[in-house]
Amino acid sequence: MTSARFLVVLDADSTLIRNEVIELLADEAGRRAEVQAATEAAMRGEVDFATSLRSRVAALAGVPITAFARVRSRIEPTPGVQELTAAVHERGGVVGVVSGGFHEILDAVAPALGVDRWRANRLEMADGALSGRVDGEIVDAAAKAASLQLWAAELGVPPHATIAIGDGANDLQMMAAAGLGIAFNAKPAVRAAASLVVGPVDLAQVIPLLP
Ligand SMILES: [Mg+2]
Repeated sequence: MTSARFLVVLDADSTLIRNEVIELLADEAGRRAEVQAATEAAMRGEVDFATSLRSRVAALAGVPITAFARVRSRIEPTPGVQELTAAVHERGGVVGVVSGGFHEILDAVAPALGVDRWRANRLEMADGALSGRVDGEIVDAAAKAASLQLWAAELGVPPHATIAIGDGANDLQMMAAAGLGIAFNAKPAVRAAASLVVGPVDLAQVIPLLP
C-alpha cells in the first residue's frame, strides 16, 4: 500500500497483547521476579528505558532459541484487537505496531492480528541461545515517535490523521506526536498525558474514534 486515509499505531506489550513478552522470556531464564519489577518501574517512567532494557535483557542470557515457541504459545491477544484492525482496514487505514519488545516474537504475532507494519528490538543470539544483549539500536520512546512519523510520511497521512495507543511511559512521545493519543489500560502518568483514556481492556472501544 502506498497511501492511506489514516494511521493507527499501537504499542505491543500490554496493549496489542495482554502480556509483557520480556516477562515470559524471563520465565524461561527462571528470573521472572526481578525482570517483572524492572519492567514495571520502566513502564511507570521511573528509569531510563534503554538502560533498563539492557539490564533486563542481560538477565535472559542463556535462554535457548527453542524456548521462543513456548513463549509464543503463551501470548494472549487483547480482546477486541481483531475487530479494531478489521475496522481500520475497512475505513482505509493502516495499522502499525512499535514495540520496546522483540521482533523474534512479534514477527509471528503481529500479522496474525491484522497488523500491517511493525518495528521492535532484536535479541542477539550466540550458539542457539540468547547472548543477553540487544542487537542494534534500541526502540525507545523517541524511536516509537519517529516510527509513527516516518510511517505517516510514507503513507501520505497528515499528522492529525494519526492515532497512537499505548499503556506505558515509553509510549508518551508517540502519543504526543499523534493527532490523537489514547492511554489504554494505562499507568497513571500515561493517563494524565493522554488526549483520551480507554479504561476497559477492550481495543474495540477505539473503533468509534476512527476517522
Ligand atoms: Mg506496553
